[in-house]
Amino acid sequence: MEASLAISSRQQDLVRALRQQLPAHCILYDEEDTRPYECDGLAAYRQLPMVVTLPENESQVISIINICREKQVAIVPRGAGTGLSGGAMPIADGLVLSTAKLNKIIKIDAYARTAVVQPGVRNLAISEAVSAHGLYYAPDPSSQIACTIGGNVAENSGGVHCLKYGLTVHNVMAVRAITMEGEVIELGGGALDAPGLDLLAVFIGSEGMLGVVTEVTVKLIPKPQTARVIMASFDDVVKGGNAVASVIAAGIIPAGLEMMDKTSSRMVEPFVQAGYDTDAEAILLCESDGTIEEVEEEIARMSAVLEQAGATALAVSNSEAERLRFWSGRKNAFPAAGRISPDYYCMDGTIPRKHMAQVLIGITAMEEKYGLRCANVFHAGDGNLHPLILFDANKEGEFHRAEEFGAEILELCVKVGGTITGEHGVGIEKINSMCVQFSSEEITAFLDLKRAFDPDALLNPDKAIPTLHRCAEYGRMHVKRGSLKFPDLPRF
Ligand SMILES: Cc1cc2nc3c(=O)[nH]c(=O)nc-3n(C[C@H](O)[C@H](O)[C@H](O)COP(=O)(O)OP(=O)(O)OC[C@H]3O[C@@H](n4cnc5c(N)ncnc54)[C@H](O)[C@@H]3O)c2cc1C
Repeated sequence: MEASLAISSRQQDLVRALRQQLPAHCILYDEEDTRPYECDGLAAYRQLPMVVTLPENESQVISIINICREKQVAIVPRGAGTGLSGGAMPIADGLVLSTAKLNKIIKIDAYARTAVVQPGVRNLAISEAVSAHGLYYAPDPSSQIACTIGGNVAENSGGVHCLKYGLTVHNVMAVRAITMEGEVIELGGGALDAPGLDLLAVFIGSEGMLGVVTEVTVKLIPKPQTARVIMASFDDVVKGGNAVASVIAAGIIPAGLEMMDKTSSRMVEPFVQAGYDTDAEAILLCESDGTIEEVEEEIARMSAVLEQAGATALAVSNSEAERLRFWSGRKNAFPAAGRISPDYYCMDGTIPRKHMAQVLIGITAMEEKYGLRCANVFHAGDGNLHPLILFDANKEGEFHRAEEFGAEILELCVKVGGTITGEHGVGIEKINSMCVQFSSEEITAFLDLKRAFDPDALLNPDKAIPTLHRCAEYGRMHVKRGSLKFPDLPRF
């Protein structure tokens, strides 16, 4: 009771200060207005924020940050809220800073092949806006219809085309952001390299913890003349996994190389009728793009490698409509999970490609162990796994089992030399797994970096980087001869 009274007087004080700088329609604080912001795509975790702000320009962003710093209120930046690791989940006595209204494309320079956009511009909207110039923005998360470029920068998002064209970090040239000190920083620039330390690479993927992005300069690339995709069937997931490694080992970098297991293709086929071979244990989608001649030659080479790797059937798209149909199943895999299970938990680990088969076998064993089904969808060429653990939150203990299942998959990824995240970030979801991946020295270095940008730990606190205290509680801190004691561990 006392805590909620405290929040309400703090809320009134904050709203009063915000109203001096922002129009009333940019400030939300009634429960019915803030409810839509209580979670991101990781809907199992929810928290109502104290206040939500929707600034309409950069100077309002700076005002919000200055007010929050003066009043020591934590800020959670938010784009479209499609994140899958809880990065945009609010804090009870904190403020959500939504960039939804900062949604203008500021400049398109077709000659330099760049675009300058505000952070709330949707990923797909960039490609749509530059399409008339024969250009597009390559990183294509499956959520691209909704997710924003600000969120993509914060998560270093990837997608089907990132195997060939790179992740967000390879396609963003400059970022303008506001630090928690209210300072405008500009990282990167219009040239291939920028002077000084490469802080742009530090900032991209920093999950909203170092600054609020207010402007992004993206690279644009020419749309390929044509693209075709092979759908290859395998009677064994291990053969499918090994085929992925064989394609890359043959020196081919496909424009997309994705894999789905039988559970996934059977889940998605009735939903979108993509034409998938639902009898196959695994299917691979292997795309080639370029000139007509290049594509023809590469499709022939990829077909030969896939056959050699044991493909039981190959189908090659013969028209743009058919290519899009083949991809529609992969792109709709997550929503399709909702048709066969009340809830699903999407993991995101990355492994060296050569261990794909071993990890798949491990996941199958875990299905038995936890008594839960798992549909596997991958950005296979990148070694980026998306196991969808299917569960029913209404059944007692199932969510907890799903979480443990997910954590064990991530441990397996680390064990084979991979990482606990590929593109969805750490957020709150994988914060304990950070203690598995990194030593206390490494975590201390991450905390030092965070402190350099945000000394009071007000920007998206308690996300992505665990405290050493937390790792110790999780039983995963590298403590030398027991000399490091709990109470002495820095909480931030
Ligand atoms: C169906 C589905 C499919 C998906 N497929 C993919 C995929 O293929 N590849 C992939 O990489 N991801 C995928 N995602 C995850 C998600 O879409 C991405 O992480 C995306 O980049 C999040 O963007 P957003 O605008 O929704 O950000 P949010 O979810 O709102 O926020 C994500 C993080 O970014 C921070 N942030 C947002 N805006 C700013 C800003 N202006 N300044 C500083 N920090 C900011 C937030 O604090 C948070 O930490 C998928 C999600 C769904 C629901």
